[in-house]
Amino acid sequence: MRLVHVKLDPDLRLKIYEKVGIYANRFSIPEPRVLLTTREVLDMPREMTEGARTSAYKYLGLSYNKQSLIFLNIRKISDEKDLENTIVHELIHQRFPYLSHGRRFNKLVRQGLRGKKFPPYQKRK
Ligand SMILES: [Zn+2]
Repeated sequence: MRLVHVKLDPDLRLKIYEKVGIYANRFSIPEPRVLLTTREVLDMPREMTEGARTSAYKYLGLSYNKQSLIFLNIRKISDEKDLENTIVHELIHQRFPYLSHGRRFNKLVRQGLRGKKFPPYQKRK
C-alpha cells in the first residue's frame, strides 16, 4: 500500500493515531500529539515547533520532545513499513530524549518494532 498521494482521510488518521497510542503505551510515554501535514506544523504556535517549522517538509518525521509532539510526514512516507518505522523512530526520541542517532538508537528502534516494552523514563540527576 503506497501512502504517497493517498488522501489523508479520517480512516488513515485514526489508524495512525491508534498505532501511535499502542507504541506510546509500550514505551511508557504520554501519548504525543500527532501532526501529519506541514500545514499542521505551521499552524502550531511558534514556540511548540521551534527548531523545525519551515524545514519540516524535508524530514520523514520529527519529534518535538519537550512538547510531547511528533510530526509524521505522510507525503514522504511510502508504505506501511515506513510508517511503522517513522512512528517508532520518533517515539524512541521521546522515550530516550538524551540519546542521539547511532547504533544504540537503531537497536532501540528495532526492539521497539518487535514489540518490546520500555519502563518509564527516569530523569538522571
Ligand atoms: Zn531522529
